[in-house]
Amino acid sequence: IEAMDTNAFPARRLTVLSGPSGVGKSTVVAELRKSHPEVWLSVSATTRKPRPGETHGVEYFFVERDEFRRMVADGELLEWAEFAGNLYGTPRGAVQERLESGVPTLLEIDLQGAEQVRATAPDAFLVFLAPPTWEELVKRLTGRGTESAEVIARRLKEGEREMATRDTPGLFDVELVNESVESVCKQLVDLMGAQAGAAPER
Ligand code: 5GP
Repeated sequence: IEAMDTNAFPARRLTVLSGPSGVGKSTVVAELRKSHPEVWLSVSATTRKPRPGETHGVEYFFVERDEFRRMVADGELLEWAEFAGNLYGTPRGAVQERLESGVPTLLEIDLQGAEQVRATAPDAFLVFLAPPTWEELVKRLTGRGTESAEVIARRLKEGEREMATRDTPGLFDVELVNESVESVCKQLVDLMGAQAGAAPER
């Protein structure tokens, strides 16, 4: 019997990190991948324009609306949603490949996407990341400095809807409060490991 690498996740299940825009999902995922580079994060397609510093193929695949519509029509997206005026979607093929080859796979998506994943992949593990308070979310979105006042207002409006959706029965497996990146990251790693261990052998 070989020694188990306790740093690696033993078996595989799709994990979804969702929560309102500005709650800190990307920061948590970036931190998680520093300590657990074996976790694969899906790169979404979006019609949003790149923010300064964002690179095609890294944060997102930046596509035109026509191309996005084609991907939807051809069934290339596992889930997709319109968020604050832009389209976002998860390319299906890459996720399927990773799951089939046993790679721990993470999606970072909005709540509309989470609902679709729950409907199509009932055994996915869905995590809701909540802000400590609503005021804190407003502060984080405003302080990010990447969006105009109009865009921030729009995202907060979506956020109100999202904070209500989280209570949908059977949608989320667990809720984590983003008090600190380190603590959320550790909880997420523990949960993914536990879920993976509990997954049936294929
Ligand atoms: P942002 O424009 O700030 O990068 O993303 C806006 C929202 O869209 C965030 O809540 C983000 O998690 C979500 N999002 C990113 N990619 C996807 C995706 O592929 N599908 C869905 N449904 N939401 C996504």
